[in-house]
Parts: sequence; structure tokens; C-alpha cells
Amino acid sequence: MDVTQFLAGNLPAFVFCVLILGLLIGSFLNVVIHRLPKMMQRDWQAQAREILELPEEPKGETYNLVLPHSCCPHCQHEIRAWENVPVISYLLLRGRCSGCKARISKRYPLVELSCGLLSAYVAYHFGFGWQTGAALLLTWGLLAMSLIDVDHQLLPDALVLPLLWLGLIVNHFGLFATPADALWGAVAGYLSLWSVYWLFKLLTGKEGMGYGDFKLLALLGAWGGWQVLPLTILLSSLVGAVLGVIMLRLRNAETSTPIPFGPYLAIAGWIALLWGDQITGTYLQFAGFK
Ligand SMILES: [Zn+2]
Repeated sequence: MDVTQFLAGNLPAFVFCVLILGLLIGSFLNVVIHRLPKMMQRDWQAQAREILELPEEPKGETYNLVLPHSCCPHCQHEIRAWENVPVISYLLLRGRCSGCKARISKRYPLVELSCGLLSAYVAYHFGFGWQTGAALLLTWGLLAMSLIDVDHQLLPDALVLPLLWLGLIVNHFGLFATPADALWGAVAGYLSLWSVYWLFKLLTGKEGMGYGDFKLLALLGAWGGWQVLPLTILLSSLVGAVLGVIMLRLRNAETSTPIPFGPYLAIAGWIALLWGDQITGTYLQFAGFK
């Protein structure tokens, strides 16, 4: 019996393998979350210099998702392989750099752990097959873009657009929705928030959200079909309202401080893709429609 056959017939073993994979990917997502915005900023600066016809900046060292190797921001101590094992290294190092003993942010192990657990759940939910493979890519992408949005109020096209196309492609094969539902999901997702944005802007003169949010909802519609959109919008406003009030209380911030909407959309869309039918069904039953 080969490995694929074994995993196909043994759900716990499959879920465990995906958990390990998810932890490792989580470690990579930490790099993406940290570096992608900086890479974009470098790009914008280079473009701006070109437009303003300023002399090109001298070529600095290479900076991408692979190079330079990760190091401690305090003492530049290069992270060795054994210090880069997801979650475990953090625990072994007791949350401190082995060179200078500076604290390592708890966020690194938390991102790894969440990525591992979410991945394992996806594997358990969909079982062995293409659905799990596709849903894993979506989960990892949503996790990375949510945290970048929290840090920078920015949803990078470099993540959102490829995942949007991927959603349309996987549903060409009807993995989560029919091709037609996915297509209209993408269109309606974009247009619904776009109209809310312009309505809000015409009425108040303020910008309530960014174009990244429209694209993200288009992405979610492409994956789940137009049917997931009402639930996604409802859930994200609910999560956003609750967390927003809590954060305002905690931060005691001014009400004009922008709170990124992307993470709420991402969480709500993910929930709607996995449990949309059950949630809507229960609701309709509850409301007496079924
Ligand atoms: Zn250090």
C-alpha cells in the first residue's frame, strides 16, 4: 500500500499530516506577513522615483521572501534551523533570542499554531481529496492577508488576485460551487461593497473601506458562489461590530481611527464556505421557512 492510499483510508493520519504541514506553512506565513508589505513599499518607492524622474536609488541588498535569512531584529543573530521549528523552538527558547535574550513576539508561535489548527480542521472537514487541497491554499492566503491588513490597513493584490482567479478555476471543476454561481459570486461580491462605498461616500464624504475589501469579497464569492455573500456580509458586520466596540473600549481610540474590515470579511467568508449551508438551513428552520 502506498502513502496516498494509506492517507486516503485513514482520516486521523491525514489530519495529523496536514497539522504538521500547517505548522510549517504558518512559519512561512510569518515571513510573508512581515516582508510582503516591505517589498511592496520598496516597489512603490522605486516607481515613484521613476515617475518623478529622480535618479535610481543605489541597489541595496536583495530583499524577498527567501533572502536575506531571518535574523533577530535586536542583535542580527541569524536564526538557525533548529531555532526555526514552528512553536517548539519558541517554547525551547522560552520566547527569547538565543543570542541577546530579547523577547520574541508571541505572534510568531500564535500564527504557526493557528495555521496548523485551521489546516487540520480543513482536512477533517473535507477529508482526503482536492477540496482539502484547495481550501488549504485559501485558508493560508486569508490568514496572511488578514494579518497584513491588521498591520498596514492594506490587502495586497499580490495575494488577493491570484486567490480570486484560483477560486474561479477550482469551481470550473465545481469543487465548492457551480462555475456560474462562482462567476456571479465574484461579480456581486465586488459590486455590493463598491456600491456601499460610494453611497457612504456620497452621504458622508468619508471613505468607509478600501478597494481591497471589494476584491476580497469578490474572492470569497468566487470560492463559495454568490450564495455565501449575504451570510458573509452579515457575519462580518456582526464580528466587526462586536470586536470593534471591544477594541475601541480597550484602546480608548478616536472613532475615526480606521479599523480594517478585511480580517472580518476573511473570517466570515471562511465560516460561510465551510458551514454556510448548515447556518442558513438552521436559520430558515428557526424562522419557520422550512
Ligand atoms: Zn537577538
